Amino acid sequence: MSFLRSSSGLALRLKFNLVLVVTFLISILGAGVYYYNFLEQVAFSDVRHDSDVLMETALAIRSYTTDQIKPHLDPLNADQFLPQTVPAFAAVETLRRLSSRYPGYEYRETTLDSTNPRNMANPWESKLIDELAAAQAKAPQDEIERSGIYGTGVKRALYVARPITITQASCLSCHGTPEVAPTSMIKLYGSGGGYGWQMGQTVGMQIVKVPMLYPLEKARTTFNSFMLSLLAIFGLMFVGLNLALSSVVIEPMARLNRRLEALATTDFLTDLVNRRRFFERLESEMSEARVRGTSLSVVMFDLDFFKRINDTFGHDSGDMVLKRTAVRVRELLRSSDCAARFGGEEFMILLRETPIEAAMVMAEAVRAKIANVPFDVVGTVSASFGVAQWNHEEDAHALINRADRALYQAKESGRNKVVRAANDAVRRVLVSDGAS
Ligand code: GH3
Ligand code: MG
Ligand code: MG
Repeated sequence: MSFLRSSSGLALRLKFNLVLVVTFLISILGAGVYYYNFLEQVAFSDVRHDSDVLMETALAIRSYTTDQIKPHLDPLNADQFLPQTVPAFAAVETLRRLSSRYPGYEYRETTLDSTNPRNMANPWESKLIDELAAAQAKAPQDEIERSGIYGTGVKRALYVARPITITQASCLSCHGTPEVAPTSMIKLYGSGGGYGWQMGQTVGMQIVKVPMLYPLEKARTTFNSFMLSLLAIFGLMFVGLNLALSSVVIEPMARLNRRLEALATTDFLTDLVNRRRFFERLESEMSEARVRGTSLSVVMFDLDFFKRINDTFGHDSGDMVLKRTAVRVRELLRSSDCAARFGGEEFMILLRETPIEAAMVMAEAVRAKIANVPFDVVGTVSASFGVAQWNHEEDAHALINRADRALYQAKESGRNKVVRAANDAVRRVLVSDGAS
């Protein structure tokens, strides 16, 4: 029974932990997917913010050059072209210094047909310029912008590109025709490219690139520590809930089970096992005796003239005799034997690995122990005994019946006796007068 109890506790714990682990796995998977996407979004918006700042910085440098540098420098060096007065040149040069401090942060102004060769668009850039030009032509009033991912692995960067469309006539003073362009500029860059631009024409683009490595790396580290803390919380919860399960549920349940089990199988007056438990024990001992080929006997006894004791001394005194009888029986038993209160003043003893001769001796000892020592208040009490050995064929009830019939014989033949039940086939009953 205790095995059953512990195995049901184990099954409960197993089921509980299974539910716990499945719940956790589902939660951690959901939380992981959600949080990963969230962090990636945050990383993207950080990068996007950086690229916007970079683009606005370039525009600020451009307008500063146009407003503050060009008007002052141009009159001083009318015959010499200074690239420093070109807004694009100023923005690219300034931000190039920034990229030396922050590798991967890049700003470029690039055109399909450049005067300065370093601004010449590569094939990927040319394609993007074409796209921007087409979009700008479709919606001349709109602020066109294209963004996306450039490169892979550690070189992955977010790019944001805006078209360079000729809106000021001053641009054409250098990029109209080589004839009107400053001679010193042609001297510097030649007359091979970057001429013939028209008002309203999209000739190139501004493009910023911001590396994604750092924000993504940061997102990954945050994600890992979040998942680790979830795991740690779950680990603690797992241990805590298991401890709580033991102390709040399993142990009290086991205690309650033991108590219920005792209540259901023990006779409250004598503390011997009850009739139900006795049959359970008998069945299991019979199975074992069958397997091992050992002998098994039962002793049934009934107190003599017990009604008289009740009538003469009262029910409480009768109860006391029943209790004291149980104590006397228990004193004679081996730990492997089992004594039960079978009915009102009827008792049963199960003797394992005991042949009939030894059972008769045992019964005789019990009879003597009851009859030879007077009980308090009521004095001498005797009992009659029927003893039967299991014949390895009959069932439990047949065995008990044989013992009962022997007991009846003992009563019939004068009480305070031990009677041996013969096998049913022989139907022979040997009488042993214990008193003699
Ligand atoms: P016999 O020798 O033939 O067995 O006679 P008896 O008087 O013992 O038999 P009978 O069956 O006539 O009476 C048994 C009595 O046992 C009747 C009942 O009141 C009493 N009894 C049964 N259970 C209890 C109990 O728990 N406490 C007390 N005090 N008496 C009980
Ligand atoms: Mg009786
Ligand atoms: Mg009786």
